[in-house]
Amino acid sequence: MANQDDKFKKVIAHAKEYGYIFGSSEIYDGLSAVYDYGQNGVELKKNIRDYWWKSMVYMHQNIVGLDASIFMHPTTWKASGHVDAFSDPLIDNKDSKKRYRADVLVEDYAEKLNIKAEKEITKAKKRFGETFDEAQFKATNPRVVKYLTQKEEVLQRLAKSLGDENLADVKALIEELGIADPDTGSKNWTDVRQFNLMFGTKLGASAQTATDLYLRPETAQGIFVNFLNVQKTGRMKIPFGIAQTGKAFRNEIVARQFIFRMREFEQMEMQFFVRPGEEMKWYEYWKETRLKWHTSLGLGDENYRFHDHDKLAHYANAAADIEFNFPFGFKELEGIHSRTDFDLKAHEEFSGKKLQFFDPELKESYVPYVVETSLGLDRMFLAVFATALQEEQLEDGSSRVVLKLPAVVAPVKAAIFPLVKKDGLPEIAAQIVDTLKWKFNVVYDEKDAIGRRYRRQDANGTPFCITVDHDTITDQSVTIRDRDTMEQKRVPIASLATLIAEKTDAEHWLG
Ligand code: ATP
Repeated sequence: MANQDDKFKKVIAHAKEYGYIFGSSEIYDGLSAVYDYGQNGVELKKNIRDYWWKSMVYMHQNIVGLDASIFMHPTTWKASGHVDAFSDPLIDNKDSKKRYRADVLVEDYAEKLNIKAEKEITKAKKRFGETFDEAQFKATNPRVVKYLTQKEEVLQRLAKSLGDENLADVKALIEELGIADPDTGSKNWTDVRQFNLMFGTKLGASAQTATDLYLRPETAQGIFVNFLNVQKTGRMKIPFGIAQTGKAFRNEIVARQFIFRMREFEQMEMQFFVRPGEEMKWYEYWKETRLKWHTSLGLGDENYRFHDHDKLAHYANAAADIEFNFPFGFKELEGIHSRTDFDLKAHEEFSGKKLQFFDPELKESYVPYVVETSLGLDRMFLAVFATALQEEQLEDGSSRVVLKLPAVVAPVKAAIFPLVKKDGLPEIAAQIVDTLKWKFNVVYDEKDAIGRRYRRQDANGTPFCITVDHDTITDQSVTIRDRDTMEQKRVPIASLATLIAEKTDAEHWLG
Protein backbone atom coordinates (compact mmCIF):
# COMPACT_ATOMS: atom_id res chain seq x y z
CA MET A 1 0.00 0.00 0.00
CA ALA A 2 2.82 2.36 0.94
CA ASN A 3 4.39 1.67 -2.43
CA GLN A 4 1.14 2.45 -4.23
CA ASP A 5 0.77 5.71 -2.32
CA ASP A 6 4.36 6.67 -3.14
CA LYS A 7 3.86 5.92 -6.81
CA PHE A 8 0.65 7.95 -6.90
CA LYS A 9 2.35 10.90 -5.18
CA LYS A 10 5.12 10.77 -7.78
CA VAL A 11 2.55 10.78 -10.57
CA ILE A 12 0.85 13.89 -9.15
CA ALA A 13 4.16 15.69 -8.58
CA HIS A 14 5.44 14.85 -12.06
CA ALA A 15 2.18 16.00 -13.66
CA LYS A 16 2.66 19.38 -12.03
CA GLU A 17 6.40 19.73 -12.58
CA TYR A 18 6.13 19.08 -16.31
CA GLY A 19 3.12 21.31 -16.98
CA TYR A 20 0.53 18.55 -17.33
CA ILE A 21 -1.89 19.23 -14.46
CA PHE A 22 -2.28 22.06 -11.94
CA GLY A 23 -4.79 22.42 -9.13
CA SER A 24 -7.56 24.84 -10.09
CA SER A 25 -7.15 28.44 -8.88
CA GLU A 26 -4.03 27.45 -6.97
CA ILE A 27 -3.16 30.99 -5.95
CA TYR A 28 -6.35 30.95 -3.86
CA ASP A 29 -5.43 27.53 -2.39
CA GLY A 30 -7.32 25.59 -5.04
CA LEU A 31 -10.84 24.26 -5.44
CA SER A 32 -11.57 20.75 -4.31
CA ALA A 33 -11.66 18.11 -7.09
CA VAL A 34 -11.24 20.65 -9.89
CA TYR A 35 -8.05 20.69 -11.98
CA ASP A 36 -6.49 22.63 -14.85
CA TYR A 37 -4.49 21.11 -17.69
CA GLY A 38 -1.21 22.87 -18.43
CA GLN A 39 0.75 23.31 -21.65
CA ASN A 40 1.57 19.59 -22.00
CA GLY A 41 -1.60 18.30 -20.39
CA VAL A 42 -3.82 20.07 -22.90
CA GLU A 43 -1.92 18.39 -25.76
CA LEU A 44 -2.02 14.92 -24.20
CA LYS A 45 -5.73 15.32 -23.50
CA LYS A 46 -6.43 16.54 -27.04
CA ASN A 47 -4.46 13.65 -28.52
CA ILE A 48 -6.34 11.06 -26.44
CA ARG A 49 -9.62 12.67 -27.48
CA ASP A 50 -8.56 12.62 -31.16
CA TYR A 51 -7.46 8.99 -30.90
CA TRP A 52 -10.89 8.09 -29.56
CA TRP A 53 -12.70 10.23 -32.15
CA LYS A 54 -10.77 8.70 -35.02
CA SER A 55 -11.44 5.16 -33.88
CA MET A 56 -15.14 5.78 -33.24
CA VAL A 57 -16.22 8.28 -35.90
CA TYR A 58 -13.75 8.04 -38.80
CA MET A 59 -13.27 4.27 -38.58
CA HIS A 60 -17.02 3.54 -38.58
CA GLN A 61 -19.03 4.65 -41.60
CA ASN A 62 -22.20 4.42 -39.49
CA ILE A 63 -21.05 6.64 -36.61
CA VAL A 64 -21.21 10.44 -36.72
CA GLY A 65 -20.30 13.17 -34.24
CA LEU A 66 -22.27 15.77 -32.30
CA ASP A 67 -21.52 18.69 -30.01
CA ALA A 68 -24.57 19.42 -27.86
CA SER A 69 -24.73 22.17 -25.26
CA ILE A 70 -24.01 21.75 -21.59
CA PHE A 71 -27.27 23.51 -20.72
CA MET A 72 -30.38 21.57 -21.65
CA HIS A 73 -34.09 22.05 -21.12
CA PRO A 74 -34.71 21.08 -17.48
CA THR A 75 -37.37 18.52 -18.43
CA THR A 76 -34.54 16.48 -20.02
CA TRP A 77 -33.37 15.51 -16.55
CA LYS A 78 -36.84 14.62 -15.33
CA ALA A 79 -37.33 12.34 -18.34
CA SER A 80 -33.90 10.72 -17.99
CA GLY A 81 -34.53 9.90 -14.34
CA HIS A 82 -31.67 12.03 -13.06
CA VAL A 83 -33.83 14.33 -10.94
CA ASP A 84 -35.27 11.36 -9.06
CA ALA A 85 -32.51 8.80 -9.17
CA PHE A 86 -29.08 10.29 -9.88
CA SER A 87 -27.82 10.00 -6.38
CA ASP A 88 -25.23 8.12 -4.39
CA PRO A 89 -25.65 6.64 -0.91
CA LEU A 90 -23.55 8.69 1.50
CA ILE A 91 -22.46 8.01 5.05
CA ASP A 92 -20.65 10.29 7.50
CA ASN A 93 -18.24 9.26 10.19
CA LYS A 94 -19.34 11.02 13.37
CA ASP A 95 -15.83 11.17 14.86
CA SER A 96 -13.72 12.18 11.87
CA LYS A 97 -16.56 14.17 10.22
CA LYS A 98 -15.41 12.61 6.94
CA ARG A 99 -17.95 11.74 4.31
CA TYR A 100 -17.86 8.52 2.28
CA ARG A 101 -19.85 6.72 -0.35
CA ALA A 102 -21.40 3.82 1.53
CA ASP A 103 -21.33 1.54 -1.53
CA VAL A 104 -17.64 2.26 -2.14
CA LEU A 105 -16.74 1.38 1.47
CA VAL A 106 -18.37 -2.02 0.99
CA GLU A 107 -16.86 -2.52 -2.48
CA ASP A 108 -13.39 -1.76 -1.14
CA TYR A 109 -13.94 -4.33 1.60
CA ALA A 110 -14.90 -6.89 -1.06
CA GLU A 111 -11.83 -6.03 -3.12
CA LYS A 112 -9.63 -6.71 -0.08
CA LEU A 113 -11.07 -10.23 0.10
CA ASN A 114 -10.26 -10.62 -3.58
CA ILE A 115 -6.68 -9.50 -2.98
CA LYS A 116 -6.33 -12.02 -0.14
CA ALA A 117 -7.51 -14.81 -2.45
CA GLU A 118 -5.10 -13.65 -5.19
CA LYS A 119 -2.22 -13.74 -2.70
CA GLU A 120 -2.98 -17.36 -1.78
CA ILE A 121 -3.09 -18.24 -5.49
CA THR A 122 0.24 -16.51 -6.20
CA LYS A 123 1.86 -18.31 -3.25
CA ALA A 124 0.57 -21.67 -4.42
CA LYS A 125 1.70 -20.97 -7.98
CA LYS A 126 5.24 -20.47 -6.72
CA ARG A 127 5.10 -23.59 -4.55
CA PHE A 128 3.73 -25.97 -7.18
CA GLY A 129 5.44 -24.50 -10.24
CA GLU A 130 4.61 -26.13 -13.58
CA THR A 131 2.12 -28.63 -12.16
CA PHE A 132 -0.15 -25.92 -10.72
CA ASP A 133 -3.79 -26.12 -11.77
CA GLU A 134 -5.20 -22.67 -10.98
CA ALA A 135 -8.84 -23.46 -11.70
CA GLN A 136 -8.78 -26.53 -9.44
CA PHE A 137 -6.97 -24.65 -6.67
CA LYS A 138 -9.51 -21.81 -6.82
CA ALA A 139 -12.39 -24.28 -6.57
CA THR A 140 -10.99 -26.42 -3.76
CA ASN A 141 -8.55 -24.53 -1.55
CA PRO A 142 -10.58 -23.83 1.63
CA ARG A 143 -9.11 -20.37 2.23
CA VAL A 144 -9.52 -19.17 -1.34
CA VAL A 145 -13.05 -20.58 -1.46
CA LYS A 146 -13.86 -18.82 1.81
CA TYR A 147 -12.55 -15.42 0.63
CA LEU A 148 -14.21 -15.57 -2.78
CA THR A 149 -17.54 -16.80 -1.42
CA GLN A 150 -17.55 -14.09 1.20
CA LYS A 151 -16.72 -11.49 -1.44
CA GLU A 152 -19.65 -12.64 -3.62
CA GLU A 153 -22.02 -12.65 -0.65
CA VAL A 154 -21.02 -9.13 0.36
CA LEU A 155 -21.44 -7.76 -3.17
CA GLN A 156 -24.76 -9.52 -3.69
CA ARG A 157 -26.15 -8.23 -0.40
CA LEU A 158 -25.03 -4.70 -1.33
CA ALA A 159 -26.63 -4.97 -4.76
CA LYS A 160 -29.88 -6.22 -3.24
CA SER A 161 -30.09 -3.54 -0.56
CA LEU A 162 -29.32 -0.78 -3.07
CA GLY A 163 -31.79 -2.27 -5.56
CA ASP A 164 -34.49 -2.35 -2.87
CA GLU A 165 -33.47 1.14 -1.72
CA ASN A 166 -32.97 -0.38 1.70
CA LEU A 167 -30.37 2.07 3.01
CA ALA A 168 -30.78 0.80 6.57
CA ASP A 169 -29.46 -2.55 5.39
CA VAL A 170 -26.45 -0.90 3.72
CA LYS A 171 -25.60 0.60 7.10
CA ALA A 172 -26.23 -2.75 8.82
CA LEU A 173 -23.84 -4.38 6.35
CA ILE A 174 -21.12 -1.81 7.05
CA GLU A 175 -21.52 -2.46 10.78
CA GLU A 176 -21.63 -6.24 10.46
CA LEU A 177 -18.45 -6.25 8.39
CA GLY A 178 -16.81 -3.96 10.93
CA ILE A 179 -15.83 -1.45 8.24
CA ALA A 180 -13.94 1.48 9.76
CA ASP A 181 -13.17 4.98 8.50
CA PRO A 182 -10.09 4.31 6.29
CA ASP A 183 -8.45 7.46 7.64
CA THR A 184 -9.04 7.15 11.38
CA GLY A 185 -10.29 3.64 12.13
CA SER A 186 -13.47 4.93 13.77
CA LYS A 187 -16.63 2.85 13.36
CA ASN A 188 -19.01 5.52 14.59
CA TRP A 189 -21.24 5.96 11.50
CA THR A 190 -24.35 8.01 10.74
CA ASP A 191 -27.28 6.51 8.82
CA VAL A 192 -26.91 6.15 5.06
CA ARG A 193 -28.83 8.64 2.92
CA GLN A 194 -29.15 9.50 -0.76
CA PHE A 195 -27.48 12.61 -2.17
CA ASN A 196 -28.31 14.00 -5.65
CA LEU A 197 -25.16 14.69 -7.66
CA MET A 198 -26.47 17.29 -10.09
CA PHE A 199 -25.33 20.92 -9.90
CA GLY A 200 -28.20 23.37 -10.17
CA THR A 201 -27.94 26.85 -11.70
CA LYS A 202 -30.22 29.55 -13.07
CA LEU A 203 -30.86 30.84 -16.59
CA GLY A 204 -32.22 34.36 -17.04
CA ALA A 205 -31.56 37.91 -15.91
CA SER A 206 -34.09 38.50 -13.18
CA ALA A 207 -34.79 36.41 -10.14
CA GLN A 208 -38.53 36.27 -10.91
CA THR A 209 -38.23 34.94 -14.45
CA ALA A 210 -35.11 32.82 -14.08
CA THR A 211 -35.47 29.13 -14.92
CA ASP A 212 -33.82 26.45 -12.81
CA LEU A 213 -31.30 24.48 -14.83
CA TYR A 214 -28.78 21.73 -14.24
CA LEU A 215 -25.25 21.44 -15.51
CA ARG A 216 -25.37 18.17 -17.45
CA PRO A 217 -24.14 15.21 -15.38
CA GLU A 218 -23.52 13.15 -18.55
CA THR A 219 -23.23 13.97 -22.24
CA ALA A 220 -25.53 11.12 -23.32
CA GLN A 221 -28.81 13.04 -23.03
CA GLY A 222 -27.64 15.61 -25.61
CA ILE A 223 -27.37 12.69 -28.02
CA PHE A 224 -30.82 11.28 -27.23
CA VAL A 225 -32.66 14.57 -27.69
CA ASN A 226 -30.89 15.00 -31.07
CA PHE A 227 -31.49 11.43 -32.18
CA LEU A 228 -34.07 12.31 -34.81
CA ASN A 229 -32.24 15.45 -36.04
CA VAL A 230 -29.12 13.44 -36.80
CA GLN A 231 -30.96 10.38 -38.12
CA LYS A 232 -33.03 12.44 -40.58
CA THR A 233 -30.40 14.94 -41.76
CA GLY A 234 -27.64 12.31 -41.94
CA ARG A 235 -30.06 9.77 -43.48
CA MET A 236 -28.72 7.26 -40.97
CA LYS A 237 -29.95 3.66 -41.05
CA ILE A 238 -30.05 1.43 -38.02
CA PRO A 239 -27.66 0.30 -36.67
CA PHE A 240 -25.88 3.64 -36.32
CA GLY A 241 -24.09 5.62 -33.64
CA ILE A 242 -23.70 9.21 -32.46
CA ALA A 243 -20.46 10.13 -30.69
CA GLN A 244 -19.78 13.13 -28.52
CA THR A 245 -17.05 14.45 -26.24
CA GLY A 246 -17.61 17.20 -23.71
CA LYS A 247 -17.77 18.44 -20.16
CA ALA A 248 -19.99 16.87 -17.52
CA PHE A 249 -20.49 17.95 -13.90
CA ARG A 250 -21.17 15.93 -10.77
CA ASN A 251 -21.20 17.09 -7.19
CA GLU A 252 -19.26 13.99 -6.11
CA ILE A 253 -19.49 13.06 -2.43
CA VAL A 254 -15.90 11.94 -2.18
CA ALA A 255 -13.34 13.27 -4.59
CA ARG A 256 -9.89 12.60 -3.20
CA GLN A 257 -8.19 10.79 -6.04
CA PHE A 258 -6.72 13.53 -8.20
CA ILE A 259 -8.25 13.52 -11.70
CA PHE A 260 -9.84 10.08 -11.18
CA ARG A 261 -12.95 11.61 -9.66
CA MET A 262 -13.53 15.28 -10.41
CA ARG A 263 -16.52 17.56 -10.03
CA GLU A 264 -16.00 18.96 -13.55
CA PHE A 265 -14.74 16.40 -16.05
CA GLU A 266 -14.94 15.36 -19.66
CA GLN A 267 -16.66 12.35 -21.15
CA MET A 268 -16.29 10.62 -24.50
CA GLU A 269 -19.56 8.86 -25.18
CA MET A 270 -21.13 7.01 -28.07
CA GLN A 271 -24.75 5.90 -28.26
CA PHE A 272 -25.36 3.09 -30.74
CA PHE A 273 -28.97 2.72 -31.92
CA VAL A 274 -30.04 -0.83 -32.78
CA ARG A 275 -33.09 -2.97 -33.53
CA PRO A 276 -34.93 -4.09 -30.40
CA GLY A 277 -33.85 -7.64 -29.65
CA GLU A 278 -30.41 -7.20 -31.22
CA GLU A 279 -28.95 -5.22 -28.32
CA MET A 280 -27.07 -8.10 -26.67
CA LYS A 281 -25.18 -8.84 -29.88
CA TRP A 282 -24.09 -5.19 -30.10
CA TYR A 283 -23.36 -5.01 -26.40
CA GLU A 284 -20.86 -7.88 -26.81
CA TYR A 285 -19.47 -6.26 -29.96
CA TRP A 286 -18.82 -2.95 -28.20
CA LYS A 287 -17.32 -4.60 -25.12
CA GLU A 288 -14.79 -6.32 -27.33
CA THR A 289 -14.18 -3.33 -29.62
CA ARG A 290 -13.63 -0.92 -26.76
CA LEU A 291 -11.20 -3.27 -24.98
CA LYS A 292 -9.24 -3.58 -28.24
CA TRP A 293 -9.02 0.21 -28.45
CA HIS A 294 -7.57 0.35 -24.95
CA THR A 295 -5.03 -2.41 -25.48
CA SER A 296 -3.95 -0.84 -28.79
CA LEU A 297 -2.15 1.79 -26.72
CA GLY A 298 0.24 -0.82 -25.35
CA LEU A 299 -0.13 -0.05 -21.64
CA GLY A 300 -0.18 -3.81 -20.88
CA ASP A 301 -3.13 -6.17 -21.46
CA GLU A 302 -2.86 -7.37 -17.84
CA ASN A 303 -3.87 -3.89 -16.65
CA TYR A 304 -7.46 -4.25 -17.91
CA ARG A 305 -10.34 -6.38 -16.72
CA PHE A 306 -14.10 -6.48 -17.20
CA HIS A 307 -16.44 -6.09 -14.28
CA ASP A 308 -20.04 -7.07 -14.96
CA HIS A 309 -22.52 -5.07 -12.90
CA ASP A 310 -24.53 -6.81 -10.21
CA LYS A 311 -26.65 -3.75 -9.63
CA LEU A 312 -28.02 -2.30 -12.86
CA ALA A 313 -28.82 1.40 -13.25
CA HIS A 314 -32.47 2.32 -13.75
CA TYR A 315 -32.05 2.40 -17.53
CA ALA A 316 -29.95 -0.70 -18.24
CA ASN A 317 -30.54 -4.41 -18.97
CA ALA A 318 -26.81 -5.24 -19.08
CA ALA A 319 -23.74 -3.28 -18.03
CA ALA A 320 -20.02 -3.82 -17.65
CA ASP A 321 -17.05 -1.69 -16.73
CA ILE A 322 -13.64 -1.86 -18.26
CA GLU A 323 -11.50 -1.53 -15.15
CA PHE A 324 -7.90 -0.38 -15.22
CA ASN A 325 -5.06 -1.02 -12.81
CA PHE A 326 -4.58 2.55 -11.52
CA PRO A 327 -1.84 3.34 -8.96
CA PHE A 328 -4.53 2.72 -6.30
CA GLY A 329 -5.77 -0.59 -7.77
CA PHE A 330 -8.33 -1.74 -10.34
CA LYS A 331 -11.10 0.86 -10.82
CA GLU A 332 -13.67 1.76 -13.47
CA LEU A 333 -12.27 3.42 -16.56
CA GLU A 334 -15.11 2.98 -19.05
CA GLY A 335 -18.71 1.82 -18.87
CA ILE A 336 -20.52 -0.16 -21.55
CA HIS A 337 -24.26 -0.17 -21.02
CA SER A 338 -27.21 -1.68 -22.80
CA ARG A 339 -29.70 1.13 -22.12
CA THR A 340 -32.71 -0.50 -23.80
CA ASP A 341 -35.25 2.02 -25.17
CA PHE A 342 -35.50 3.68 -21.75
CA ASP A 343 -34.18 7.13 -22.70
CA LEU A 344 -35.86 7.59 -26.08
CA LYS A 345 -39.18 6.31 -24.70
CA ALA A 346 -38.96 8.64 -21.71
CA HIS A 347 -38.21 11.63 -23.98
CA GLU A 348 -41.15 10.65 -26.20
CA GLU A 349 -43.40 10.62 -23.17
CA PHE A 350 -42.20 13.90 -21.67
CA SER A 351 -41.94 15.85 -24.95
CA GLY A 352 -44.94 14.38 -26.73
CA LYS A 353 -42.74 13.97 -29.86
CA LYS A 354 -42.18 10.68 -31.64
CA LEU A 355 -38.58 9.47 -31.50
CA GLN A 356 -38.86 6.47 -33.78
CA PHE A 357 -37.15 4.94 -36.76
CA PHE A 358 -38.92 3.50 -39.77
CA ASP A 359 -37.07 0.31 -40.60
CA PRO A 360 -37.38 -0.22 -44.37
CA GLU A 361 -36.47 -3.92 -44.11
CA LEU A 362 -39.00 -4.71 -41.40
CA LYS A 363 -41.44 -2.14 -42.79
CA GLU A 364 -42.28 -0.92 -39.30
CA SER A 365 -41.48 1.95 -36.95
CA TYR A 366 -39.98 1.39 -33.54
CA VAL A 367 -38.10 3.13 -30.74
CA PRO A 368 -34.53 1.85 -31.16
CA TYR A 369 -32.60 0.16 -28.38
CA VAL A 370 -29.30 1.73 -27.36
CA VAL A 371 -25.87 0.41 -26.47
CA GLU A 372 -23.65 3.05 -24.92
CA THR A 373 -19.89 3.28 -24.50
CA SER A 374 -18.90 5.92 -21.95
CA LEU A 375 -15.29 6.79 -21.18
CA GLY A 376 -13.94 9.50 -18.89
CA LEU A 377 -11.27 11.47 -20.73
CA ASP A 378 -9.57 12.55 -17.51
CA ARG A 379 -9.54 8.97 -16.20
CA MET A 380 -8.06 7.85 -19.47
CA PHE A 381 -5.43 10.56 -19.11
CA LEU A 382 -4.58 9.27 -15.63
CA ALA A 383 -4.37 5.66 -16.84
CA VAL A 384 -1.98 6.62 -19.64
CA PHE A 385 0.12 9.06 -17.62
CA ALA A 386 0.49 6.96 -14.46
CA THR A 387 1.44 3.81 -16.39
CA ALA A 388 3.87 5.71 -18.60
CA LEU A 389 5.80 7.22 -15.69
CA GLN A 390 8.76 4.96 -14.97
CA GLU A 391 12.09 5.09 -13.22
CA GLU A 392 14.72 3.07 -15.04
CA GLN A 393 18.08 1.78 -13.88
CA LEU A 394 20.59 2.15 -16.68
CA GLU A 395 23.54 -0.10 -17.48
CA ASP A 396 26.07 2.50 -16.36
CA GLY A 397 24.54 2.46 -12.86
CA SER A 398 22.70 5.75 -13.23
CA SER A 399 18.92 6.04 -13.42
CA ARG A 400 16.47 8.08 -15.46
CA VAL A 401 12.86 9.18 -15.13
CA VAL A 402 11.06 8.46 -18.38
CA LEU A 403 7.48 9.09 -19.37
CA LYS A 404 6.83 6.28 -21.85
CA LEU A 405 3.65 7.78 -23.31
CA PRO A 406 2.30 5.96 -26.34
CA ALA A 407 3.87 8.05 -29.13
CA VAL A 408 0.50 8.57 -30.81
CA VAL A 409 -0.74 10.62 -27.83
CA ALA A 410 2.55 12.20 -26.65
CA PRO A 411 2.23 16.02 -26.49
CA VAL A 412 5.50 16.74 -28.26
CA LYS A 413 6.53 14.31 -31.00
CA ALA A 414 10.13 15.46 -31.44
CA ALA A 415 12.63 17.86 -29.89
CA ILE A 416 15.27 19.34 -32.15
CA PHE A 417 18.67 20.30 -30.74
CA PRO A 418 21.70 22.01 -32.20
CA LEU A 419 24.73 20.28 -30.61
CA VAL A 420 26.26 23.72 -29.90
CA LYS A 421 24.88 27.24 -30.05
CA LYS A 422 27.18 28.34 -32.90
CA ASP A 423 28.70 27.45 -36.29
CA GLY A 424 25.31 27.70 -38.03
CA LEU A 425 23.88 24.66 -36.21
CA PRO A 426 20.99 26.58 -34.54
CA GLU A 427 19.88 27.83 -37.96
CA ILE A 428 19.74 24.32 -39.41
CA ALA A 429 17.83 23.07 -36.34
CA ALA A 430 15.37 25.96 -36.67
CA GLN A 431 14.82 25.07 -40.33
CA ILE A 432 14.01 21.48 -39.37
CA VAL A 433 11.50 22.77 -36.82
CA ASP A 434 9.92 24.96 -39.49
CA THR A 435 9.45 22.00 -41.83
CA LEU A 436 8.21 19.49 -39.26
CA LYS A 437 5.83 21.83 -37.44
CA TRP A 438 3.25 21.58 -40.23
CA LYS A 439 2.74 17.93 -39.39
CA PHE A 440 3.82 17.49 -35.77
CA ASN A 441 4.02 19.37 -32.50
CA VAL A 442 7.82 19.81 -32.21
CA VAL A 443 10.05 21.94 -29.98
CA TYR A 444 13.48 23.53 -30.28
CA ASP A 445 15.90 23.36 -27.34
CA GLU A 446 19.49 24.64 -27.21
CA LYS A 447 19.94 25.03 -23.45
CA ASP A 448 22.32 22.83 -21.36
CA ALA A 449 24.51 19.86 -22.31
CA ILE A 450 22.99 17.38 -24.74
CA GLY A 451 22.62 14.67 -22.05
CA ARG A 452 20.51 16.94 -19.90
CA ARG A 453 18.37 17.89 -22.85
CA TYR A 454 17.74 14.18 -23.51
CA ARG A 455 16.72 13.62 -19.87
CA ARG A 456 14.35 16.59 -19.97
CA GLN A 457 12.57 15.21 -23.04
CA ASP A 458 12.51 11.67 -21.57
CA ALA A 459 10.73 13.00 -18.50
CA ASN A 460 8.36 14.94 -20.73
CA GLY A 461 7.43 11.88 -22.80
CA THR A 462 8.85 13.11 -26.14
CA PRO A 463 9.38 10.02 -28.35
CA PHE A 464 12.21 11.48 -30.48
CA CYS A 465 15.22 13.77 -30.02
CA ILE A 466 16.94 15.02 -33.15
CA THR A 467 20.45 16.45 -32.90
CA VAL A 468 22.12 18.64 -35.49
CA ASP A 469 25.96 18.46 -35.37
CA HIS A 470 28.89 19.65 -37.47
CA ASP A 471 28.61 16.75 -39.92
CA THR A 472 25.04 17.84 -40.69
CA ILE A 473 26.46 20.82 -42.60
CA THR A 474 28.12 18.50 -45.11
CA ASP A 475 26.01 15.32 -45.10
CA GLN A 476 22.48 16.74 -44.52
CA SER A 477 22.01 14.04 -41.86
CA VAL A 478 21.13 14.19 -38.16
CA THR A 479 21.11 11.86 -35.17
CA ILE A 480 17.70 10.66 -34.11
CA ARG A 481 17.35 9.15 -30.63
CA ASP A 482 14.51 6.89 -29.53
CA ARG A 483 13.12 7.71 -26.06
CA ASP A 484 12.45 4.10 -25.04
CA THR A 485 15.47 2.24 -26.39
CA MET A 486 17.80 5.28 -26.21
CA GLU A 487 19.23 4.05 -29.50
CA GLN A 488 20.69 6.66 -31.80
CA LYS A 489 20.68 6.45 -35.58
CA ARG A 490 22.11 8.65 -38.31
CA VAL A 491 19.40 9.56 -40.82
CA PRO A 492 18.95 12.07 -43.67
CA ILE A 493 16.99 15.22 -42.73
CA ALA A 494 14.69 14.46 -45.66
CA SER A 495 13.55 11.19 -44.02
CA LEU A 496 12.58 12.70 -40.64
CA ALA A 497 8.90 13.34 -41.35
CA THR A 498 8.36 9.76 -42.52
CA LEU A 499 10.25 8.29 -39.56
CA ILE A 500 8.25 10.30 -37.04
CA ALA A 501 4.94 9.57 -38.77
CA GLU A 502 5.65 5.84 -38.71
CA LYS A 503 5.72 5.92 -34.92
CA THR A 504 3.13 8.59 -34.18
CA ASP A 505 0.32 8.30 -36.76
CA ALA A 506 -2.92 6.80 -35.44
CA GLU A 507 -2.95 4.49 -38.46
CA HIS A 508 0.00 2.55 -37.08
CA TRP A 509 -1.65 2.15 -33.68
CA LEU A 510 -5.25 1.53 -34.62
CA GLY A 511 -4.70 -0.27 -37.90
P1 ATP B 1 -18.17 5.80 -10.67
O1 ATP B 1 -18.85 4.50 -10.30
O2 ATP B 1 -16.67 5.74 -10.65
O3 ATP B 1 -18.75 6.99 -9.97
P2 ATP B 1 -20.02 5.95 -12.79
O4 ATP B 1 -20.39 4.52 -12.93
O5 ATP B 1 -20.92 6.89 -12.08
O6 ATP B 1 -18.54 6.06 -12.18
P3 ATP B 1 -20.69 6.61 -15.47
O7 ATP B 1 -21.88 7.38 -15.10
O8 ATP B 1 -20.84 5.28 -16.09
O9 ATP B 1 -19.70 6.52 -14.20
O10 ATP B 1 -19.77 7.55 -16.37
C1 ATP B 1 -19.00 7.05 -17.44
C2 ATP B 1 -17.53 7.35 -17.28
O11 ATP B 1 -17.32 8.73 -16.96
C3 ATP B 1 -16.86 6.60 -16.15
O12 ATP B 1 -16.47 5.31 -16.57
C4 ATP B 1 -15.67 7.48 -15.85
O13 ATP B 1 -14.59 7.19 -16.73
C5 ATP B 1 -16.18 8.86 -16.14
N1 ATP B 1 -16.53 9.55 -14.88
C6 ATP B 1 -17.66 9.45 -14.18
N2 ATP B 1 -17.63 10.26 -13.10
C7 ATP B 1 -16.44 10.89 -13.13
C8 ATP B 1 -15.82 11.86 -12.31
N3 ATP B 1 -16.43 12.35 -11.24
N4 ATP B 1 -14.58 12.30 -12.64
C9 ATP B 1 -13.96 11.82 -13.73
N5 ATP B 1 -14.49 10.92 -14.55
C10 ATP B 1 -15.72 10.45 -14.28
